[in-house]
Amino acid sequence: METTDNLRPIEWDDYIGQATMKERLSIHINSALLRDAALDHILLTGPPGCGKTTMAQIIANSYGVDFTSFIMPIKEKVLVTYLRLTDQGVILLDEIHRLSTKQQESYLSLLEDGYLQLDNGDRVESGNITIIGATTEPEKVIAPLYDRFAIKPPFDEYSDAEMRDIVLRMAEAVETDMTDEAAHVLGRASGGIPRNAKSLVFMARDLETMGYGLDVAEILQKCRVDEDGFSEDHRRYCQVLAETGGISGLEILSAHLRLPKPTLIELERLLLKREVLQYTKSGRELIGRGWSVAKAME
Ligand code: ADP
Repeated sequence: METTDNLRPIEWDDYIGQATMKERLSIHINSALLRDAALDHILLTGPPGCGKTTMAQIIANSYGVDFTSFIMPIKEKVLVTYLRLTDQGVILLDEIHRLSTKQQESYLSLLEDGYLQLDNGDRVESGNITIIGATTEPEKVIAPLYDRFAIKPPFDEYSDAEMRDIVLRMAEAVETDMTDEAAHVLGRASGGIPRNAKSLVFMARDLETMGYGLDVAEILQKCRVDEDGFSEDHRRYCQVLAETGGISGLEILSAHLRLPKPTLIELERLLLKREVLQYTKSGRELIGRGWSVAKAME
């Protein structure tokens, strides 16, 4: 039976793009293996769906240890149970910025000295565990915790060509016909986010299963995204910015759009990449095609 996990790359070669990051991590992993030492702790920072979890799994695979993933926050006893049962492995602490400051502080000794200090005075040793932190909002990670991750390789933006290859690979995994041209359009419409590519490929697969041919315009329309990867929220952002005269601060936009700032910053990632928005000293400025993106809403 086909499962969504078929889509998750399990080896470096299947993981498309991020060449610099893959090379850097391979050096650290191979060195740790040669030295017969624990792999240093790693922090992965990038937007939702860019491939952090998948990367963490591949790191564990190539280091040859078990992989366990927790979405933060978790109760202390969950971590304690894991540490008591395991003395070697890679553990992903996903969304690490969601921990309170106090909880983040309690993880400092784990990363620095290899033990978790409990309130009752007990210490739980972490053996040869490698901790991979993942975050979409690094500014919410307290500085001492951020600093304790020895390896912090940045994610590069995926190019449209890499996104095309990700679409082709996913389509192959779910046995769906896909031409290079269609993959190019769907890849670009994924806006540099592999998880978005997955939604588009699943729509292509489901339409094909229902007996329809490959029609990219229909896939985009059904997934409510355009060829630039702009969603309704991107268009609304541009419209509100246009209404404020084409230049505005983040606070004002957040109030008008009724969206939290981190959500706006994530929307801006693609608007900046597509050069319809720029950051200036006086605020966010709509430029070039940005005005027609705003008009598309009317
Ligand atoms: P994150 O943890 O950053 O939210 P994930 O690792 O869950 O993102 O990735 C989302 C999906 O996109 C996964 O199911 C995976 O199949 C796919 N994916 C992510 N990065 C890549 C990549 N570089 N190459 C191929 N597929 C990828």
